Amino acid sequence: MEGQEELFPQEAEACAPCLLAEVAVAVPVLHHLSYAVPEHLTGKVVPGVRVRVPIGSRRVTGFVVTVATKIPEGALKPLHDVLEERPFLTPATLALGLWVARYYGAPPGEALSALVPAAIRHGRRQKMDVLVELVDAAAAKTLREQHADAASWQSRSRVLRALLEAGDGLRLQEVLRIANVTVSPINTLERADVVRRRRVPALADPLANLRACPTQAPTLTGDQSAALDALLPRLDARKFSASLLHGVTGSGKTEVYLQLLERTLAAGRTAILLVPEIALTPQTLERILGRVPDVAVLHSNLSEGDRAEQWQRLFDGRVKVAVGPRSALFAPLRNVGLIILDEEHETTFKQQQSPRYHARDAALERGRIENALVLLGTATPSMETEGLIARGSIDRLQLPNRVGGGVLPAVGIVDMRYEKPVGPGGMFSRILLHEMDEALSDGGQIMLFLNRRGFSTTVLCRQCGWQAACDQCSIQLTHYRRSDRLLCHYCGRERAAPQQCPDCKSPHVRYSGFGTEKVAEATRGLFPGRCVERMDGETLSKRGAPERIYRELKDGKIDILVGTQALAKGLDIPNVTLVGVISADTALLIPDFRSSERTFQLMCQVAGRCGRGSQKGQVIIQTFCPEHPSIQAAARHDHASFATFELAQRREHSYPPTGHLVRVVAESPNDEAAAKVLAATRADAQSWPEIQDGRVQVLGPAPCPIPQLKGQHRRHLLFIGPDADTVTALLPRLPRRSGKGLKVLIDRDPVAVM
Ligand code: ADP
Ligand code: ZN
Ligand code: ZN
Repeated sequence: MEGQEELFPQEAEACAPCLLAEVAVAVPVLHHLSYAVPEHLTGKVVPGVRVRVPIGSRRVTGFVVTVATKIPEGALKPLHDVLEERPFLTPATLALGLWVARYYGAPPGEALSALVPAAIRHGRRQKMDVLVELVDAAAAKTLREQHADAASWQSRSRVLRALLEAGDGLRLQEVLRIANVTVSPINTLERADVVRRRRVPALADPLANLRACPTQAPTLTGDQSAALDALLPRLDARKFSASLLHGVTGSGKTEVYLQLLERTLAAGRTAILLVPEIALTPQTLERILGRVPDVAVLHSNLSEGDRAEQWQRLFDGRVKVAVGPRSALFAPLRNVGLIILDEEHETTFKQQQSPRYHARDAALERGRIENALVLLGTATPSMETEGLIARGSIDRLQLPNRVGGGVLPAVGIVDMRYEKPVGPGGMFSRILLHEMDEALSDGGQIMLFLNRRGFSTTVLCRQCGWQAACDQCSIQLTHYRRSDRLLCHYCGRERAAPQQCPDCKSPHVRYSGFGTEKVAEATRGLFPGRCVERMDGETLSKRGAPERIYRELKDGKIDILVGTQALAKGLDIPNVTLVGVISADTALLIPDFRSSERTFQLMCQVAGRCGRGSQKGQVIIQTFCPEHPSIQAAARHDHASFATFELAQRREHSYPPTGHLVRVVAESPNDEAAAKVLAATRADAQSWPEIQDGRVQVLGPAPCPIPQLKGQHRRHLLFIGPDADTVTALLPRLPRRSGKGLKVLIDRDPVAVM
């Protein structure tokens, strides 16, 4: 890397034995830098504290990693000053952050600063938010229409859409999330006087004021008691151990978590409960708060000020339990006795930007560091966890039955190859319609699942064959009927739906295929007088929508809920007696080695949504691949046989959990630049001993399955190693570059290779 040399402090000064601090600086290098500790800072420079250090002529912040008395080999520059009295990182979070950096090949300075909220690092504690609003809504609307098809306006246009739909301004974080943009288009629009920013008091954290009536523990079921009998002694032993709580949906896993949490707190220790963001609903939190009142909830929609406040409460020891998505694993708690990862199979536990850690592996590491019990919970264990069990690293505790004897729903598979389906695009089999009729007339509620958003999924000219595709990504555009626009699901780019073919001007443009919007519309047509609602990325982006849908479903206002995987997760409605899977094939067709696993998990989760009350539930799965092992096993609720099948497949190709993957992705507007850097790495790798002796295999370089994304050409190179250590040793040799023309990213243990 250019300028590498100047990162090493030079400059000769004193050479006597001195205190020497190793510092992980906030620059992209993989090693620590050494500095002398000036006398007046002795005692303040301790591991985990932030310091300011010189690099060349710059001053940079960094975290102190170690302090030792040494005779330095060369002369050392002194560090400048210490930024806080009490280190933000505890010995455990420091060790964990360094492990993350090493294991995932991330610069340690970057990995460590990701552990402390920005507002804490910058000393911003005030509870203010930035509100973004339109200066003149009518003018903004016109402007947006004028530039609808201009490539350079895509992100600005999304910002305007979000603001126009919101009506009266949005908080900056909301704009960034809803419009899926960086701040740059907002800045541009502000300079052009289209939007303005205003500081406003932060919105109250919607989860902060939950009512939590204290509740009593129920009498445990036999299975729950057996699981706790196994776990409590391990918790008390204060030694690292890890278990999987493998329990079907509704088997009472959460009750086991609650009892473990209570025991941990009673023993004077602290705990972390990780859940997928999507599960952080008022419903789940109220349940936790009813039993464990002093909890810090760290969800991603917190304002900066609220995040800082929650973090501070943990840091000060005022609360002893952190609940949140993956980043809550780094909570500044001391004396952690218990770490729970619920829904451990969820891929959202993997962070998709540097440091690209997986919270499951990092949780196991924190458990080792803290001598804690780590409990992974799920109905459908990941193949990685199955691999850990097979190797004897963790054990499995089972909750095979639903609490209260509720039975798992009967699952029927409908072979769509032999169906004469009804509805647009043939979305309903006759059997499904019949069962829907029955369920409704028995007073039940229905969920229809399809993992595809929008109205039509293919827009095609019947005259010349033109297809509406994104010019920035290799994907077809999806038509949304309500807004009559075409949207790219990869980059969010959108344009007006064409009245005629843009190539041959033929008016015969055909809209076909279906997503949830069309399913909902067709359902309304087939069941007039019934209340049909939709729950997908589009409808959920409105503020308060998840809570409203949940409430209306629970109150029986909604008869039929159509949704994507948002619906598959966590909705616990006793009166849902039928779940229809419109198509089980959407995930199966994805060319990723995890597509079978995804499909199996999704089918099991969807099935778990029904029959949660006293009535028996039923599931109908429509598919064109009825023999597929994922679908067959899901229909029998048979995880064991699916795991056996899938692990054999993985072993055959040395995919995880057998092999360990590192994926190197090169992205560039210029395909040749991406190809070149990977070809060079590949050539270089030929001389590595691990490659020469065959321990490590290389696949590629090849174009990624999604070869173009947001205008970037994408190629990748895959290394498959036999064990974790071998793979760790490769990481420092891989190219890392990020500039305008080329970005190389390294993804260890990727959850997808698209
Ligand atoms: P899971 O987390 O495995 O999906 P839950 O913990 O949500 O299962 O339990 C399902 C339902 O059963 C919940 O409504 C819960 O309150 C209830 N429940 C759990 N354990 C018991 C028990 N021992 N006795 C009575 N009800 C229980
Ligand atoms: Zn045409
Ligand atoms: Zn696109």
